[in-house]
Amino acid sequence: MELDRELREELDRLAAAGLRRVPRRVESAAGPRVTVEGRERIVLGSNNYLGLAEHPEVRAAAADAAEKWGAGATGSRLTTGTLTLHAELERELAALKGAEEAVLFSSGYLAAVGTIPALVGRGDLVLSDALNHASLIDGCRLSRAEVRVYRHGDAEHAAELLADRERFRRALLVTDGVFSMDGDLAPLPALCDLCEERGAWVMVDDAHGTGVLGKRGAGTAELLGVESRVAVQMGTLSKALGAEGGFVAGSSTLAEYLRNRARSFIFSTAPAPSTVAAALVALQVAAREPGRRARVLRGAARLAEGLRALGFDARGGETPIVPVVIGAAEEAIRVSRRLEERGVWVPAIRPPTVPPGTARLRASVTASHTEADLDAVLAAFREVVDE
Ligand SMILES: *Cc1c(COP(=O)(O)O)cnc(C)c1O
Repeated sequence: MELDRELREELDRLAAAGLRRVPRRVESAAGPRVTVEGRERIVLGSNNYLGLAEHPEVRAAAADAAEKWGAGATGSRLTTGTLTLHAELERELAALKGAEEAVLFSSGYLAAVGTIPALVGRGDLVLSDALNHASLIDGCRLSRAEVRVYRHGDAEHAAELLADRERFRRALLVTDGVFSMDGDLAPLPALCDLCEERGAWVMVDDAHGTGVLGKRGAGTAELLGVESRVAVQMGTLSKALGAEGGFVAGSSTLAEYLRNRARSFIFSTAPAPSTVAAALVALQVAAREPGRRARVLRGAARLAEGLRALGFDARGGETPIVPVVIGAAEEAIRVSRRLEERGVWVPAIRPPTVPPGTARLRASVTASHTEADLDAVLAAFREVVDE
């Protein structure tokens, strides 16, 4: 067929460049070790930072909710899909974020692509960090606002791009809180200063900080002391909270506006009862056991230090994400395979997810990894160096 021939050519080009991807299949439950292709491996790439996906209470909550409410939500949030469970989770998320209200979406991706186009459109300006997550990039594109990309983490460059602010109706600055492939933090205080001065709104996607960073685990904004200055606080339930779903927290007005204007909220089925209940209990466990946050951050710092001592270009260390930058895509895959032969699974991340020439192993630690697990990981990396 014509279609297959043309698509095959493109796939072959991807394969030749070392960029063709095939999903791996996990054959066991979530946890610090999983079975892949019949063999158990320490997994060092999941986003299950607090180890809550496998927590007995969280699993039981999901099972009980399916039993009590049914398998699906049966409709979009504005028709038959809003259960008391959804409202309860939104209340808890707002409380975590120090906000008046929160709006729940089916995923973080949908929260981003629904929220940005709801807030800005033609005649408006969006400033976006060069390393923002794809969901924010797609939200910016969908909005049809003028999009200007500032250098990663560079508030001064953002200021330059905001110099003609008065030409636009609204201005919105969007940034990851913790950058997903680099594990570093956005300079939120400087960005908030800038936006307050120039009359722009700040939106932070804290997919990787929520539940992990800050005294209460509220995230990057809490850690950096700007909670009350971030008008649009986005997050996901799929990472530290071990469930699924995305959210935006902010003022009651923002919440009501999004319920009326965010297309991915309006035109998609509400999150299933089981995942909503799981997230609710995950929030409770995370609040009750702050030791999980401490453990994951301690583990990540130790891993980053150990890898640097072995000569690896390991970045981060203040968040659960420890990227090990390798360079060429083929080389990243080679190192990833060598580690896998030694029982350690760290996925290689290649372009277009990261810029060309910066292919990496994206290692991430969870609260469920033991000291012995991390020792085994470092030993595997050492063997790869010595080869
Ligand atoms: C994972 C991620 C998302 C998407 O969240 P999902 O709930 O997985 O759809 C959005 N933003 C960032 C920064 C992420 O890392």
